Amino acid sequence: MSLDPTLVRNANFINGSWKEAQGGNTLAVTNPATGAAIGQIPKFGRAETADAIAAAHDAQKAWRRLTADARAEHMHRLCDAIMNQIDDLAILLTTEMGKPLAEAKGEIALGVKYIRFYAEEGKRIYGDTIPSPWADRRLLVTKEPVGVAGAITPWNFPNSMIARKLGAALAAGCTIVIKPSEFTPYSALAFGVMAEKVGLPKGVINIVTGDAAAIGDEMCENPKLRKITFTGSTRVGKLLAEKAGRHMKKISMELGGNAPFIVFDDADLDKAVAGAIASKFRNSGQTCVCANRVYVQSGVYDAFAAKLTAAIEAELKPGNGLEAGVTQGPLINEAAVEKVEAHLKDALDKGGKLQTGGSRVGNVGTFFAPTLVTNASTTMRVAREETFGPLAVLFKFETEEEAIALANDTEYGLACYFYTSDLGRSFRVMEGLEYGLVGVNEGVITTEVAPFGGFKDSGIGNEGSKYGLDDYLNIKYACIGGLGI
Ligand code: ADP
Repeated sequence: MSLDPTLVRNANFINGSWKEAQGGNTLAVTNPATGAAIGQIPKFGRAETADAIAAAHDAQKAWRRLTADARAEHMHRLCDAIMNQIDDLAILLTTEMGKPLAEAKGEIALGVKYIRFYAEEGKRIYGDTIPSPWADRRLLVTKEPVGVAGAITPWNFPNSMIARKLGAALAAGCTIVIKPSEFTPYSALAFGVMAEKVGLPKGVINIVTGDAAAIGDEMCENPKLRKITFTGSTRVGKLLAEKAGRHMKKISMELGGNAPFIVFDDADLDKAVAGAIASKFRNSGQTCVCANRVYVQSGVYDAFAAKLTAAIEAELKPGNGLEAGVTQGPLINEAAVEKVEAHLKDALDKGGKLQTGGSRVGNVGTFFAPTLVTNASTTMRVAREETFGPLAVLFKFETEEEAIALANDTEYGLACYFYTSDLGRSFRVMEGLEYGLVGVNEGVITTEVAPFGGFKDSGIGNEGSKYGLDDYLNIKYACIGGLGI
């Protein structure tokens, strides 16, 4: 199982060509499981980003005039190329990001589902006719692509975070400039390799790596770019929203979370444990929808803690994601491990009890053992901040009202989960939780056919489903008079 060198492109993809940065500036990329170098990517600044935006702007004129059917054909061909090389692309993803190979493959397959879904959904961008208050006029509402979209994406899903933006953008008739995370650029650049292979029109997809702030500034200020779609931290999202707002650009922001996971006394505990394992420890706890605060009702607290400890010890295996049987890859970098260590120390200092895990694993890489702490309290950092790592903490609660209040006591509102067998409670709690995504007796709920988006500081807009297309469309109203009728 080795890395396909033709997929490791140390150049950016602009207008169908591979380009280096002016002056040859580069950034190093390493494998988090081993610390080994993978390559050097271009360090673009504002000027090169402006070139990419100009290329996307030119290409959009023809791309938007294609029929939805023709755009869909291009998009399906892109997906075919990705599926033909899914094994190689998964190795690339695991090498730069660390997640287990099976998860990498699953992520890429899900990315393809997003693109294929939008390829077809693009054929259903319906308008309206509005009954006219004037006898001699007709009122039409149509939807048009916003223009060039700029996408800034994180490292935790190096493929699918791009796929769901790219799918919606291209289907709507937009072209795109993608800035991936500097930690995981190769999965993004591989979209360029695939686009080249299938002869996607030049300039429809452009990929730029480099100085994040400079690229972000150019995207926000360049008048040829009309939309910013961002997935990442709330801090950077707010910065971009503010800058984009000054230039009246449409924005979609998918930001941080602090997901509550509530287990009621009447829950099926085995299902709740399975859900907690999937929700908390998938991607080594590095997803914005990962459970961050686990609230367990007092009657089942001890039983749930014992079952979860046993499941963590029996089912989760840290290691290099390329090795068989591994479920927990490394964290993305040293800073990520230090954050888990800081949250854990803070929790233990404030009365938390360590049930399992609690330390780094191995001498190389950035591995941390899946960890469970009980006796959590609201003064702990983990009650307020997203850990983004394999640390689960269990809080105890008494009543349904208390659980809802605790769950909502955060500035975030992305994902939440709860387990109960009471139908009435399912609806009461679902309606009481201030979150964009609710898992009821389910720990993993993402699918391309459903919307994905947060409330409050977790963001603006949705990705996936028919709702995700709206973010790439402008509404145009035409009043047609002079009809002589
Ligand atoms: P995370 O903590 O998940 O890495 P970030 O918000 O730091 O989240 O990063 C998400 C994406 O935002 C990455 O592609 C990163 O390079 C980019 N980014 C970071 N800072 C800025 C910035 N000032 N302007 C634009 N993009 C940025």
